[in-house]
Parts: sequence; C-alpha cells; structure tokens
Amino acid sequence: MFTGRPYPDKERHSGRDMRYGYLIDMDGVIYRGSEAIPGAADFVGYLQQEGIPYLFLTNNSACTPLDVVVKLRKLGIETSVEHVYTSALATAEFVHQQKPQGTAYVIGEGGLLTALHEVGYAISREGPDYVIVGEGRVLTFEMMEIAHRLMAAGAGLISTNADTWCPTDAGPRPGCGAIVAMLEAATGRKAYHVGKPNPFMMRAARKRIGLSTDEVIMIGDTMETDIRGATDLGFRSILVLSGSTSLDSLRSYPYRPTLVVNSVAELIPEVAACRF
Ligand SMILES: [Mg+2]
Repeated sequence: MFTGRPYPDKERHSGRDMRYGYLIDMDGVIYRGSEAIPGAADFVGYLQQEGIPYLFLTNNSACTPLDVVVKLRKLGIETSVEHVYTSALATAEFVHQQKPQGTAYVIGEGGLLTALHEVGYAISREGPDYVIVGEGRVLTFEMMEIAHRLMAAGAGLISTNADTWCPTDAGPRPGCGAIVAMLEAATGRKAYHVGKPNPFMMRAARKRIGLSTDEVIMIGDTMETDIRGATDLGFRSILVLSGSTSLDSLRSYPYRPTLVVNSVAELIPEVAACRF
C-alpha cells in the first residue's frame, strides 16, 4: 500500500552518505492499550540490531521515560530512557527556554512533575508563571478553580498536548486538550500546546536523534499529530493503520503521509531495502 517512497533519491544526495532515523509514536503504533501490536518488538529489535537511530515520541505526559521503558519491557520490547521523548520533557524544555527557574501550577501526573523539577522548575500555587496541564486522571474541580484564578491573576496557560481524547483498554476518555478547553472557555484565553504537531517538539526530537531534516522519518497512526507535525517540519512520514486512522479517512486531509502501511510489521523489508 505505497503512496510514495519515504527515502530521498540517492542521486540528489550523492555528495555524502544518507543515514535514516525514525521518530516512532507509541500508542497505536507499538501498542494499543496494554497489548503490543504484532511485529512491533521485531521492528524495534531490527533497528537496534542494525544500529539505526530511533526515538519514541509520545504526547502522553503522564509517564517518565523510565516508566515508558518498563511498560515496553512488559510488552517484550527492550529499550532505554535515551530512546524516549515525551511531551512532558518537551514542555519542560519549552518553559525552561522561555523563563528559566520559573514556577508552575500543574494539573498532571508524575512524568510532567518530574520533567519540570529536572529543569529547575518549582511547583507553586502562589502567583506562578504558568498553569501547565498534562495528561492524566488527577483532575478535580477544585484544581480547575485554582487554575482559573491563577490565570486571572496573570499566569500563562500551557498544555503538554492538544489531544482531546485518549484510547484506553476500557474505551476513550477525555484527554489533556479537553481539560484545557474548559480553562480556555472559562478564561477566554488560549493555551500554548507544546506536544506534537507543534514544531517545537518535532524539532527538539530531531535534535535528540542527531539527524538532519532529510534523514528523519516519522512513524505514527494519527494524521493530526504525527503526520501533520512531520509535514510541517519537512520530515517524511509513514502512517500505520494499526491505530486511530482508517484508509478511507485519508482523503479528507489536505496533507499526506509519504507511505501508508498496515502496521510496523510490514516495515522491516522497507527499512532494509532503503537503508543505504
Ligand atoms: Mg498514536
């Protein structure tokens, strides 16, 4: 099911060797809920065996990179924290650049709190610089009241991602974007969403993997985040149909992935054939 080639023509780059590296979304690509997608472990194992650069890229800010590594291990996928980049890390990097040593009131879970602490942010409800909303299930109405009042007193609104819902084993649940929408409606102010498809996170991921724009290929299951983010940055992209997108729905988007496959199980021959 090819819509194009995800690899640039060699002739155009005859001056030097091209390397390719992969930014890999996780939910819908590597696993669905608590189940690994068939072939995912083999695909990641192949990248490791061949020394091909890769970085897991997720908009879920609830987990630390170590939490993600442990979850993947339970699914039979061995990796390490350097290969995980979450929207929590990107958000911490963003606020650290904008206002070093700042303060934030946080509606979110351990992954976000840890990332903020690691860049020197303090968590405070006394006139913080930002209200930061992440993914998770810790929300109470009292927290929304506090966030609203802190914003009214001048705090900026930042979210780890704009996803309005999240898939779970039991079905969908409201996501970070939905919580943020409530604060936006209440205050009349708009949030800054750091996660995919924001170029801030996509560019930070490219820097982490240490490759140039032409050498990065994004693999994802969601048009609005993975494929849109890759398109905005000029990365090639591979859409997998093992997650949230159906082939029929592709027509309704003004942007396209470079390649469409049923799942990562189909990708080893493709990567092997085009590696050099
Ligand atoms: Mg996904």
